[in-house]
Amino acid sequence: MYAVGVDIGGTKIDCVLMDSAGHVIRDVIVPTAPQDGAAAVFDRIAGSVGALAEHAPGEIVSIGIGCTGLVNQQAGMIENSVHLNWQNVPLREGVRERLRLDVPIAIENDLKAAALGEKRFGAGKNSAAFVYLAIGTGLGSAAVINDRVVSGSRGLAMEIGHLMIDPNGRRCACGRRGCLETFLSGTGLAHAAGILRHDHPESTLSAGEDKPTTAAILAAARAGDAFGRMLIDEMRGGLARAISICAAVFNPDLIVLGGGFGLAAWDLLTDGVLALASEYALPELFTELRLSKPECTRQAIGAGAVGLQAIGH
Ligand SMILES: [Zn+2]
Repeated sequence: MYAVGVDIGGTKIDCVLMDSAGHVIRDVIVPTAPQDGAAAVFDRIAGSVGALAEHAPGEIVSIGIGCTGLVNQQAGMIENSVHLNWQNVPLREGVRERLRLDVPIAIENDLKAAALGEKRFGAGKNSAAFVYLAIGTGLGSAAVINDRVVSGSRGLAMEIGHLMIDPNGRRCACGRRGCLETFLSGTGLAHAAGILRHDHPESTLSAGEDKPTTAAILAAARAGDAFGRMLIDEMRGGLARAISICAAVFNPDLIVLGGGFGLAAWDLLTDGVLALASEYALPELFTELRLSKPECTRQAIGAGAVGLQAIGH
């Protein structure tokens, strides 16, 4: 029994043919090129899936597609994806009508799909309830209770990036102030550095015309630069707030912390963060709580798991 998993990112579409244990048999990676329009993206997905199907050693039972943005699973629609510039795009039907295979297709938000991958094949295997926080350019988040990703009524559960935690905080791209993402994302960190560096002329981050990159901020913090450390401390505070909210809502036994920036800054961000989080919520919520890096590093495998789960496997 084989499944296809597809991860649609802003720059590339990763397609894998996998077995039910999450082992990748073959893969195809093509550019997303969303500027060509949704139909061209559907063509590329169908082409990749077709190429994988030709070489499948056995029957393909499901196709799962993870996509960045707000995903309505029931309707098979991408309601909004900033990275792809998609609004109300019928992803499931668009792919289905281009495929020669008659196989069930399920779609899911990419981070929720990755979280299911962690449950089945990664860090969440032995967890009763865990939360996945992915710090990249934005903040992705998902919760898995027992064997299920928490979806909510329209698939928007755990959209916490634009949860306002400081009404007097910095302006967010969404127009509000003090969203969690202004603290807990690479974009938010670089923006904060750009604004605050004028108050810290002694910092290496204040040299030059351009605002510092997240890599420069991390390097400065590791080198002991006081401003760099302050920025990372503020981010750790944002992470503690996010963890405390998730702990109170779901009582998880595990926080999987990933994302490109989350992994690059793992040691700095996790240092003392659970103790800090326990100051914001009932301490009993933290007695069993631990932190882990993701272990299923390919989101397409999680997408494959979404397809398998949709048909009862
Ligand atoms: Zn916001």
